[in-house]
Order: sequence, then structure tokens, then C-alpha cells
Amino acid sequence: MKLVRILAPLLSLTLLTACRSQPEAHSVQFFAMDTVMTVSAWGGGGQEAAEQARDVVDRLDALLSVTDETSELYAANHSGGRPVSLSPETAQVLEQALDLCRDSRGALDITLYPVVKAWGFTTDSCTVPDDAALIELLERVDWTRVSLEEDVLTLPAGMELDLGAVAKGFAADRAAESLRAAGVSSALLDLGGNIQAVGSRPDGSPWRVAVQDPDGGWLGVLEVADQAVVTSGGYQRYFEDDGERYWHILDPATGRPARSGLTSATAVGPGGAVCDGLSTTLFVLGLEESVDLWRQQGDFEFLLLTEEGELYLSSGLADAFTPEAAWEGRVTVVEP
Ligand code: AMP
Ligand code: MG
Repeated sequence: MKLVRILAPLLSLTLLTACRSQPEAHSVQFFAMDTVMTVSAWGGGGQEAAEQARDVVDRLDALLSVTDETSELYAANHSGGRPVSLSPETAQVLEQALDLCRDSRGALDITLYPVVKAWGFTTDSCTVPDDAALIELLERVDWTRVSLEEDVLTLPAGMELDLGAVAKGFAADRAAESLRAAGVSSALLDLGGNIQAVGSRPDGSPWRVAVQDPDGGWLGVLEVADQAVVTSGGYQRYFEDDGERYWHILDPATGRPARSGLTSATAVGPGGAVCDGLSTTLFVLGLEESVDLWRQQGDFEFLLLTEEGELYLSSGLADAFTPEAAWEGRVTVVEP
């Protein structure tokens, strides 16, 4: 009998707060996109703004959920190849998601859902699909065959979209926009480990975000303001079978868990959706190709942990990251 186990996603990033005395936050905690989320806003009107930000996330969840039978994404996935009209918001998200796939060197593919389902990652019962099944399912995976003309989506019959790799990032962007529009200049969103900072802490100092060590504890602390910090890792959701570990981030080339030599990939930058797409992308690409992508794009920063236990940091984070004592001496700063 095989042991099949799936762990609930763990928080990979944690906010370190309350080192110094700060005015109290207005916080809203809620469950959306299959995870616990917290929005905290400081200053006058903070409570109402935090609640509005929650509503923004809830609305996106209702549009983009792959399992909710009333979502727009569900309707698209069951359209049988017929064109469907999307709301402007869903169309916008999809357009940006396709751009992220385009920039990912084949690492990110939002049409992987048939394969994700075959592994059982959407349910509690995971299983290893056989090679023949994977080869057949991969014929239905190819984001370049998704047509989006204005707000009209046409998805070839048999193909299905899954925005799991980017949805929380989109939600963080929209929620941060809503907070700023409400006049909030200091807020923090923790959408199931996707961290997004609006401004800096109320006293003007940077937010401190701890990056999780997949083996327990922390790799170190990142200081950020007005940035998103997003981590992808095989340790966040996986099952074991015959002594082998299988995780939820798949390589679109093989339909199998991506084994690129990284155990964790963190992307840092101004955009939540971009960083969410990137964290998954970097995890699939591995160290060398991620560094190459960074040198080419130059619009994000990274923190990558290899299976050998070496930490690689892009130079833009050199001053912002303080490793835990155990990691000192195992950090390499990568220059452009
Ligand atoms: P993340 O935790 O942001 O790295 O996203 C992982 C989730 O995205 C998985 O649970 C799948 O639903 C989906 N997924 C897995 N691999 C990929 C991939 N290569 N491209 C796009 N989505 C993926
Ligand atoms: Mg992601």
C-alpha cells in the first residue's frame, strides 16, 4: 500500500512585526484562494480600506477559481472550444498571465490544468500518473493555443486553464491598488505567503519579511518597501510515494514535478503578479537559467536556494537581505 500524503501549503514568508512600537494596525483576516490571507492597513480609514481590499480579493477569487462551478474560469474550462465573453477584469488578468508565460522560457504554462488534475493536486488524493497518460495529457497543454481577442476567449476543446501560479499575485496587485486609492500609505498584504507591501512601516522603516528555510526555520530576513516578495518551493505542497517526493510545481516539458536543483525560489519586485509568475518560473528554470533571465530582464530580484544548500542572491538584494547565522558563509551575491 502506498503512502500518499499532501501537506497544506505552509507559509513560506512571514512578516516580522512589532520590533519597535508602531501604531496599531487595522487587520482583516479571511480565507480565499484556498489559503488564509491577512490585510493590515495603518492610519485613518485603515479598517474600511482593509475590508475593501479583502472584497477585491474575494471578487477575483470568485472569477478565477478553477473549482468553483460559478466562476468565469470554470465556464471557460467547460466551453467545449466555443468562444466565451469574459468580464474586463478576467480578460485583463488572462492577458497578463499569457504575457508571463511568454516571458518564462517555457517554464510557466497556464494550460497545465489537465496534468495538475492527473497528479491529484487539486484534491486530497494524489497519485503518480503513468508515462503514457502524461504524454497524452501534455497534448492538451500549450498556452500559445489560447486565443484572447479583446474580451473574447477561445480555448481549444480539451484544454483547461489554471491560474494557480499567478492568481494570488494578481489579487495582491489589485488589493494594493485599492488600498492606495483609499489613501492608505502604509499597508501589508499576506495572501497565503505572497507578501505585498504598500509603502513602508508607519514609522518609515522598511517591512521585514522572513524567508522560510524548507527544512524549518528561516533563511534570513528581507527588508522591503513598496515591493512584492513571493516564494515558490517544492516543500509547500507535496506527497510521497515509494520514498520519492512529488511536488505541485510541474515542468511543462515533462508534466512531472520540476527538478531543477532548486528547493526554493523567491522573486522580489514592484508587481505581485509578475513576482508570482516569476517565483514559479525560477523554480522550474533552475539556478543558471534563472540568473540568465535576470540578466536579460533586469526588472526583478531573486533569492534562490539549491539542493546543495547554497543561497544565491541577486545583487539588488545584497543590502536588503540579512541571512540567519546558520546561513552566513553560504550566500553568493550574483552580479549583473
Ligand atoms: P506557485 O505556488 O505560485 O509556484 O504555483 C503553483 C501552482 O500553479 C500549482 O499548484 C499548480 O496549480 C500550478 N502550476 C504548477 N506548475 C505550473 C507551471 N509550470 N506553470 C503554471 N502553473 C503551474
Ligand atoms: Mg507563483
